[in-house]
Amino acid sequence: MYAVRLWSVRHAKGLNRFYQAFEKVVVALHPLWNRIGYDKLEAPFQVLEKTTKGFLFDCQMCGQCALSSTGMSCPMNCPKTLRNGPCGGVRPNGNCEVKPDMKCVWVQGWAGAERMDGNLTKIKDVQIQVNNAIKGKSAWLRVVRITRRVGEFAPKPPKAPPAKKPASPAGADLVAKPATPGGEGKAA
Ligand code: SF4
Repeated sequence: MYAVRLWSVRHAKGLNRFYQAFEKVVVALHPLWNRIGYDKLEAPFQVLEKTTKGFLFDCQMCGQCALSSTGMSCPMNCPKTLRNGPCGGVRPNGNCEVKPDMKCVWVQGWAGAERMDGNLTKIKDVQIQVNNAIKGKSAWLRVVRITRRVGEFAPKPPKAPPAKKPASPAGADLVAKPATPGGEGKAA
């Protein structure tokens, strides 16, 4: 809901504090999630996340949340889905060039980031391009899996060293090989 989205940016500092505490709890519950199974948890987490973040931020469930770096303004609400700052078309009143009645999510994000962190440190983080393969998945569970190195984020086993070739007897390479049919000496 648009009005709530603007409210969330105005309260970015408090929401960010809540989020940081929430993240610690969700990560600490990893043993429980592991026992239940991350695959089984995906669907209920998606519903919970879509409901709460959809209400507060108009979350589009990109699966790789950037809110803590974007002043609690969801970058996926930008009509161009820009994740690293505004395009060149922001109107003089701070509204979007594509949707003239909507505040630019990046103008909002900057204001939210100033409330969260006076040094504007996090908003300068470069966001990697969005991975559409995980769109719709729970970003919360992804954070736990990344932090606790579960599933695709588990450390890879070290590669086995390549097997050594058995040493050939001395001089074996010097033994003349028989001529192959069609090889040297054949008429053109
Ligand atoms: S960045 Fe992604 S996960 Fe976070 S609120 Fe926006 S769409 Fe949702």
